Amino acid sequence: MPHTSHLEISKSAYRRNIKFLQNQLGTETVISSVVKGNAYGHGIENIIPIAESVGIRHFSTFSTDEAQRVFASSQKNSTIMIMGMIENKDLEWAIKNNVEFFVFEFDRLLASIKTAKRLKIRAKIHIEVETGFHRTGFEWKEKEILAEMLVENQAFLELSGLCTHYAGAESIANYVRVQNQIKKYHEFKKWFLSKGIKFETHHTACSAASLSYPETIMDMVRIGIAQYGFWPSQETYMSKFKQLAVNRKNPLKRLITWKSKIMSLKRVEIGDFIGYGNTYMAPRNMLVAMVPVGYGHGFSRMLSNLGKVLICGKIVSVVGTVTMNSICVDVTDLKEVKKGDEVVIIGKQKSNEITVASFSESSQQVNYELLTRLPQDIPRKIVY
Ligand SMILES: *Cc1c(COP(=O)(O)O)cnc(C)c1O
Repeated sequence: MPHTSHLEISKSAYRRNIKFLQNQLGTETVISSVVKGNAYGHGIENIIPIAESVGIRHFSTFSTDEAQRVFASSQKNSTIMIMGMIENKDLEWAIKNNVEFFVFEFDRLLASIKTAKRLKIRAKIHIEVETGFHRTGFEWKEKEILAEMLVENQAFLELSGLCTHYAGAESIANYVRVQNQIKKYHEFKKWFLSKGIKFETHHTACSAASLSYPETIMDMVRIGIAQYGFWPSQETYMSKFKQLAVNRKNPLKRLITWKSKIMSLKRVEIGDFIGYGNTYMAPRNMLVAMVPVGYGHGFSRMLSNLGKVLICGKIVSVVGTVTMNSICVDVTDLKEVKKGDEVVIIGKQKSNEITVASFSESSQQVNYELLTRLPQDIPRKIVY
């Protein structure tokens, strides 16, 4: 293996996560699998076939480049929806290929109509409304003009969806804000209906909303983090945990395992400093192992003197600062450690486990950030 580490992606874990989610959502609700950020670091090209093998036929991306990768990977003619960035000049590609996209401003709406007219193909659009996120979305005061334009141009538009996004459904601290957003969304929905404007689907919920605010589950939900086996936050997990009283086991399974190998070993004497600077002085005679994974590979510098990895089935500590390409770990207490031994950075080894959550807690990165920072060029291998 020429690379210094690799990632394993578990297909069976994915299947179980989707089963759990579908159970929570009910059979009527379509899951759109959110694969932005290189499928949260798992690799778009890996996740699409796995997801399609368990029946997922709808994918959401942030941008056009990601949508093009989904398009190239899909074997089942799945629906693709761009939620964020698409340049007006790329609308032609989207419309020609049945790729759907959010429309949250008049500039994009006008460009879509113009492109659809020219191509003589209807653009499949999802109207995003502003309910309180204050990022993107048509404002309440824009609704009349918007409605007029939608009706006038119905020959060029397919109204695939009416949508919004919640500002922090993963924390109870945002409860009132989310409730107000739900209310606002329904006001929009009712208003459009009163004008005779119908949308094919209604969708607002991300993972956290789907799990904590069941009233946000509509025809479709946009599930990102949960399908990869992570709770949007500790809070979401705790609130759900009470309802899962039956077997008290975490129903979401991590797909990802991150492994490397010991590059070399070195004896260090008591009083020696290890690594750059003077952040770590050996408190005893030590044996340290070099592991060829550093911040350049997504192993945060914040884990200097804090991170843990698994070697010989035991939890061992990072000593000294995390460098660009490597870390040093204290293996003094491991009996039979040798060069080439497997190092688990995230995942299980014998009876011990390092979860992304515990890894993130010590580096103050949330799951989302850690996962998406895993470089695209670390080899990823699908395992059962
Ligand atoms: C990222 C995103 C989602 C999915 O969020 P998760 O918390 O990962 O489930 C849904 N909708 C929009 C608009 C998003 O940007």
